[in-house]
Amino acid sequence: MAPFSKSGMSREDVFSRLQAFRQNDIKWQDGRVFGYIFDPGQAVQDIAKQAYTMFLSENGLDFSVFQSLLILEKELAAIGRRHLRGDADVVGNFTSGGTESILLAVKAARDYYRSIRPEITAPEMILPTTAHAAFHKAGHYLDVNVVRVAVDPTTFRADPAAIEAAITPNTILLVGSAPSYSHGVVDPIADLGRIALDHELWLHTDACMGGFLLPYFRRLGAPVPDFDFTVPGVSSISMDLHKYAYTPKGASLVLYRHKDLRKHQLFACSHWIGYTIVNNAVQSSKSGGPMAAAWAVLNTIGDDGYLDIARKKLGATQKIAGGIAAMVGLRLLTQPDMCLISFTTTQGSVFHLVDEMNARGWYIQPALSFDNSPAHVHLSINASNVGREEALLADLKECVAKIGTMPTGDLVQLVQSGLVGIDLAGLSEKELADMLALAGIRDEGLPHRMADINGVLNALPPNVREQLLVTFVNNLFS
Ligand SMILES: *Cc1c(COP(=O)(O)O)cnc(C)c1O
Repeated sequence: MAPFSKSGMSREDVFSRLQAFRQNDIKWQDGRVFGYIFDPGQAVQDIAKQAYTMFLSENGLDFSVFQSLLILEKELAAIGRRHLRGDADVVGNFTSGGTESILLAVKAARDYYRSIRPEITAPEMILPTTAHAAFHKAGHYLDVNVVRVAVDPTTFRADPAAIEAAITPNTILLVGSAPSYSHGVVDPIADLGRIALDHELWLHTDACMGGFLLPYFRRLGAPVPDFDFTVPGVSSISMDLHKYAYTPKGASLVLYRHKDLRKHQLFACSHWIGYTIVNNAVQSSKSGGPMAAAWAVLNTIGDDGYLDIARKKLGATQKIAGGIAAMVGLRLLTQPDMCLISFTTTQGSVFHLVDEMNARGWYIQPALSFDNSPAHVHLSINASNVGREEALLADLKECVAKIGTMPTGDLVQLVQSGLVGIDLAGLSEKELADMLALAGIRDEGLPHRMADINGVLNALPPNVREQLLVTFVNNLFS
């Protein structure tokens, strides 16, 4: 048997099969999903698709061959520079997403300090606990040690004094978010900038979520603290386009205060037998589609269009946050600075709430407890959610009433008892598989209700959670 169709499928069969694969996907088209999907509406989607397919085959590997992609990337970086109020020295590049932008910024910081402070052989970056997981990934990939610092327990903003106290002779990089994904609050970037300047450190603002949208919220009169290149001490900023700029996925920017910093992001190779390599970013061969689509969407919606969308999102956020704050059984974790809301339950399991809402066709995202933040629900409010506020609050109210009586804990206790006397740092594959089986997960299966597995994960220490997740996925993709 050939590993795929031997004689080729008909066009019709290809698309009917592809369509069938989507059967269990979340239905996002009617605005009941609060995350993952950034839907600009059908008309803009159509333009994005046309621009994407127009540049589908062009290869970003070599911008001397495809000069269109050089022009597009420079235009997009210039849009980012002006949007984030950078001066003429600010430069940037297009990447496949926030993770790639962050990987590149951490690499640039690492290599910059290698050049100016070669005595630092075990570099460290200081992360507030709300800094996105992509920084942990960057540290893991690039051998930069992560030093975690707790955020303020009531505002969930980074704590500048605690960060300054964590600086060691090995520190190279500080990170602040605008806003944090988890709680939607903007860190005190100006304070972090002062600390970075005092200690000659690199400060990265992670504005993956807010870089594009916050300037519009500021224009609408919302209190938005400065986080961009106007803040002294900010060396680099990541800003996704495939979130609140509504471009197709595979679109982000990473920007630097000056070319001398960005230089350390680039990679060239002449030590092999083959074509000359010089890469801006992580990928080498890459489609021109995401860049062309991003350019098309930005210029189709336009500045006025984005301001209008922002106004609607601001209104929807205020309605939903207000409704949650007033609801018996729920607690808003903090007042958000943008349109990301975090809340938890005061009676009943937050994970049951997520499942109950899911059963009613909503997608709201669960988050495990960590450090001083309880397990909670995250909502990213979107243009497509506008108009659904009342329905969401009504269903939340009914689900909250229901979960109060739903049992929790048996399974969690079972799994915890299974851990007694076991070396948590070195769990065997068998022990991990047994634990997953206890939680109702066997090979190749995704559980229907997630409350049990989330409850189990939530009760375990983070390093065990990570081992379980790796084992689970290692089995799932086989
Ligand atoms: C989404 C996000 C990222 C990671 O971006 P991806 O595009 O998912 O790789 C990083 N930081 C923040 C604050 C984010 O919201």
